[in-house]
Amino acid sequence: MRDPRYDILFEPMKIGPHVAKNRFYQVPHCNGGGYRDPSAAAAMRGIKSEGGWGVIFTEQTEMHHTSEITPFIELRLWEDQDIPGLRRMSDAMKVHGALAGIQLAYSGINGPNFYTKEVPLAPSALPIRTFTNDPVQARALDLTDIKNLRRWFVNAAKRSKIAGFDLICLYGAHGFGIFQHFLSRATNQRTDEYGGSLENRSRFAREVVADIREAVGDTTAITMRVSLDETIGELGFSNAEVREFVAMNADLPDLWDLAHGAWEDCSGPSRFKEEAAQELLVKGIRELSSKPVVGVGRFTSPDVMVRMIKSGTLDFIGCARPSIADPFLPKKVEEGRIEDIRECIGCNMCITGDMTMSISRCTQNPTFMEEWRKGWHPERMQAKGDSESVLIVGAGPAGLEAARALGLRGYQVALAEAGTELGGRVARECRLPGLSAWGRVRDYRQYQIGKMANVDVYFDSRLTADDILAFGFQNVAIATGSTWRRDGVARAHVVPMPIDPAMPVYTPDDLMDGKAPSGNVVLFDDDHYYMGGVLAELMARQGAKVTLVTPSAYVSDWTRNTLEQGAIHRRLAELGVEIVLNRSVTRIAGGGVKTACVYTGTEQEMDADAVVLVASRQQNDALWQELKGRRGEWADNGIRSIRVIGDAEAPGPIAWATYAGHRFARELDEPDIGDALPFRREVTALAAE
Ligand code: ADP
Ligand code: SF4
Repeated sequence: MRDPRYDILFEPMKIGPHVAKNRFYQVPHCNGGGYRDPSAAAAMRGIKSEGGWGVIFTEQTEMHHTSEITPFIELRLWEDQDIPGLRRMSDAMKVHGALAGIQLAYSGINGPNFYTKEVPLAPSALPIRTFTNDPVQARALDLTDIKNLRRWFVNAAKRSKIAGFDLICLYGAHGFGIFQHFLSRATNQRTDEYGGSLENRSRFAREVVADIREAVGDTTAITMRVSLDETIGELGFSNAEVREFVAMNADLPDLWDLAHGAWEDCSGPSRFKEEAAQELLVKGIRELSSKPVVGVGRFTSPDVMVRMIKSGTLDFIGCARPSIADPFLPKKVEEGRIEDIRECIGCNMCITGDMTMSISRCTQNPTFMEEWRKGWHPERMQAKGDSESVLIVGAGPAGLEAARALGLRGYQVALAEAGTELGGRVARECRLPGLSAWGRVRDYRQYQIGKMANVDVYFDSRLTADDILAFGFQNVAIATGSTWRRDGVARAHVVPMPIDPAMPVYTPDDLMDGKAPSGNVVLFDDDHYYMGGVLAELMARQGAKVTLVTPSAYVSDWTRNTLEQGAIHRRLAELGVEIVLNRSVTRIAGGGVKTACVYTGTEQEMDADAVVLVASRQQNDALWQELKGRRGEWADNGIRSIRVIGDAEAPGPIAWATYAGHRFARELDEPDIGDALPFRREVTALAAE
């Protein structure tokens, strides 16, 4: 059972009129489902309740139609008809005794109002501040507007109470909530009683808290979420001002929820931020108030959590991503199963679900957001079907997850790996600069299958089709991964590009194998996710003079969705990598490359001693193709099914591979559903005509 060292994490604590059963606090986080997929989002929160969290929050909830963040899909509480959807969520949160919290957001200078077409309202008249520089400006709230806004907050609070929430979080962090817009001298340039001194800038927060307390304070706790430092220079709401604000308004909310900076500061990926990265910024704030404090820091280690509480830094351990990667984190600590925690790797794939308005994925937890759609539970699998044995070929993330999940179902599993270690691409990529935490994808699964008597691992086993046909396993999964292309085929070149054999050309696989190009190296990135930027960093650290050329307007373009694009550009610039945007490498010659502007086609020559092509990947599916061609031999060899999964089917991010492995394990021996949709879908009810 529980290690007494962790007892402190299970001490109850009061938040306003409620008592949280422990210190595990799931802070608000998005999920890409929001108001479009309310049942999927509710079921996801319900799983966290089962996993033992003491407090569980919704994502950002737009509390009035005059401020909304379309195209992003979060929650809405604009009118009474929004209450039932939210009620479903609070009910799910409370099933196992968690407190249910709702985060109310008035987006102010962050809400372009594309959907409602209302004129945005903000403390000062300024352009809307979003990721996309929308051509929209806000008008300044006048004193009547401020009275109205206070009333709208009270209305939203009353609706929150009817919707069953125990806690209301007033959002003033990440540049997303109006409380921050009032508090910051950058976004509040008013000269009336709401602007100027900090006393004046905090007036709005004081008034709204007082209004809500009067309306629902007897039953509902009020928390205030602010960033520890706005991180936008001199005018921003700085850490020093945050401390002054808390001291000045010490007992204002029932709990202080301390986030950090902009969203990319708060949810920094592991490549750029360690666990507990905000410790120094948050230290000492708790002493300024008698109210409890929650803070975040991608906490996955119970020892770090205990240290945060024992040192008087935090009262509650705030987790978003760690609760996504392992919704059962608190339960596992409670049951003394620390080794079973599926630690977040800090890749930020979950965030891309929000940024792309799709439903979120988690690299570590393939069941995330599939709890309702597919009925997938993060800890439990259905019992095995009517076959007995499965051979999995390839121990990358797809093969490892398939082996783990099939082992749980009770199959006899053999995992055959050509190499001498588990993890496939993860084992290789986690040795690249900044990506060591990604090894957790392997570590978790390696430990889990190591405990299973029914899963056997075979190394140095590069299987052929003859081997597989001869072995006699009833089911086979081909998870043989992919290989980076050497011919430049990706987006700019859909057929092989002209390459002079005199030029040394390297792929990401070569670099991961330890080859180190030197001298003037041109890296052509037509992949646009992290690999190009990581390899430029690796080579620059090894002493090469690196020029990164990309047809995109951004380095590592797609990492804007993982909130790290700015950090990547900054790091490469600091390492002296020359960055050439909006140009394609059109030809590789003996002594250099030819590039062309993607807009005008204007050509330029560039000297190079070596070229690294970060293009696309080719699926390693030769084995699968051969077995498919020999389908007639399957039955005679006792084989019922062979499937290709993961990168061997179609290369994608690691999260796609763990998902594919999990899906294979779930669907084995299940009835054929024919043309039916493989998940449940929620369709908005039509209004009366
Ligand atoms: P995915 O991301 O789909 O899991 P990876 O590329 O990470 O794919 O992993 C594929 C794994 O399969 C690698 O570890 C590789 O060594 C292994 N592999 C490739 N071909 C064979 C084969 N014929 N037999 C056994 N293992 C193989
Ligand atoms: Fe952590 Fe990555 Fe999962 Fe997000 S997607 S919770 S960052 S492992």
